[in-house]
Amino acid sequence: AEANVGVVGLAAMGASLSRNLARHGYKVAVYNRTYARTENFMKNYASEGEFFPSKTVREFVDSLEKPRVAIIMVKAGQPTDDVIEELAAVMDKGDIIVDAGNAYFKDTMRREKAMAARGIHFVGCGVSGGEEGALLGPSMMPGGSDESWERLKPMFEAIAAKASDGTPCVAHIGPNGAGHFVKMVHNGIEYADMQLIAESYDLMRRGLKMTPAEIGDVFEQWNKTDLDSYLVEITAEVLHKVDDKTGMPLVDVIVDHAGMKGTGTWTVQTALSLEVPVTGIAEAVFARGLSGQTELREKAQADPFDGPDPKFDVDDEQRDDFIEHIRKALYASKIVAYAQGFNEIAAAGKHYGWDIDMAEVARIWRAGCIIRAKFLDRISEAFESGTADISLLFAPYFKSGIQEDEPSWRAVVEQAVRHGIPCPVFSSSLAYFDGLRSKRLPASLIQGQRDLFGAHTYQRVDEPGVFHTLWTEPGKPEIKEK
Ligand code: NDP
Repeated sequence: AEANVGVVGLAAMGASLSRNLARHGYKVAVYNRTYARTENFMKNYASEGEFFPSKTVREFVDSLEKPRVAIIMVKAGQPTDDVIEELAAVMDKGDIIVDAGNAYFKDTMRREKAMAARGIHFVGCGVSGGEEGALLGPSMMPGGSDESWERLKPMFEAIAAKASDGTPCVAHIGPNGAGHFVKMVHNGIEYADMQLIAESYDLMRRGLKMTPAEIGDVFEQWNKTDLDSYLVEITAEVLHKVDDKTGMPLVDVIVDHAGMKGTGTWTVQTALSLEVPVTGIAEAVFARGLSGQTELREKAQADPFDGPDPKFDVDDEQRDDFIEHIRKALYASKIVAYAQGFNEIAAAGKHYGWDIDMAEVARIWRAGCIIRAKFLDRISEAFESGTADISLLFAPYFKSGIQEDEPSWRAVVEQAVRHGIPCPVFSSSLAYFDGLRSKRLPASLIQGQRDLFGAHTYQRVDEPGVFHTLWTEPGKPEIKEK
């Protein structure tokens, strides 16, 4: 037993994580189902640190110092269950299994329970940042027992990304599924963020007739504002890229079907069951869905609907001002999407009894992960100050920001609607904001309809209790139910 930690699964993510650990002075046991991958790993990276390759799970477990730490980085789903079972069969009480793959949080809860019953700590750890993040420092969201966190903390703090103030982007999120839950919502927010950027691009491209390179320049400028973020930065790079084969902007030769692996869908499904409106994330997932509806989209081209010309009523002198409106609309919508995501985390925290520190979540997303952005500092401060408890939108910094941007936001959505350029996340975020502003919502009418067709009852504004109107018997008084 010589290795400090072990990694199971040496595909892109596991290999990078193993190298990251070794580069920080940890002795790393490595195991992969297919030994050829292990051999290949050793051939390429053995010189980077101290690795202990194993051919079997038993050999791998035996090479670990106690209490053992085994990090699983294999395909999510059944393969993860298989590997957990193989490890648990030869591990001892007090050992720690970390699943660093993209597990569904309910699977993590199930696995944690099963392992706890066998005396093994199971940690579900969200890892963001892709292959490069895993190698150079990811954002890490572990969930599990306090005891396991104590053992993992120094190691995870060493390998995690460091924010600009030097703090590691890892924190103990909570018990069992809390870490994977937060990672899931991170991905949901990422969907919304990417869609908002894509909508901004589309508005400039079609509404303002700008070229991809010109729009790339705009994103480059935006990256020096409140929007400073990894996604805005890479957007500029993508838009500036010219296709080698055709000499065209690369974005014009890429098929416009957005792929997805499911974490966005999970975020929305979970939000629905927790009854948290995450309209920005949901519209972003649906927008990807629509992009992939080939048959529907082909039919709509072959049998077209009439509509307005997608050119905005903006002349050349007004163009820069309108670009600034789009920037503000993007910022306001982005705040809404984040606020909704954090509301989902808070609701899950309540529902599952996790004590999640929102300020900490914002803090560990500041570096390493895909949604890393300057304004996460502000989000973290907002939660710390207690002004964002109900919603991020009420924290003074964001409230005044959104208030200032509101006219631009509305102007952009108005032009987009008038000229037929879809901007589902811009417009649904604005609708959410206006919903919050409304003293009375038409939900009263819905309650009336529900009471009429289904005797679902309603509450009154002037009297406590539950009421039902005798709709079919005019003249009869409404009756009160207990
Ligand atoms: P893959 O998801 O492609 O999985 C390949 C690895 O899983 C190989 O090591 C493979 O072993 C192993 N594996 C598959 N089935 C089994 C099984 N039944 N038993 C044992 N091992 C099995 O690898 P990635 O590196 O891309 O991703 C690893 C994890 O990280 C996944 O959960 C993924 O969702 C997540 N991920 C996270 C990212 C992030 O940004 N956080 C990015 C990419 C992935 P073999 O060589 O024998 O086939």
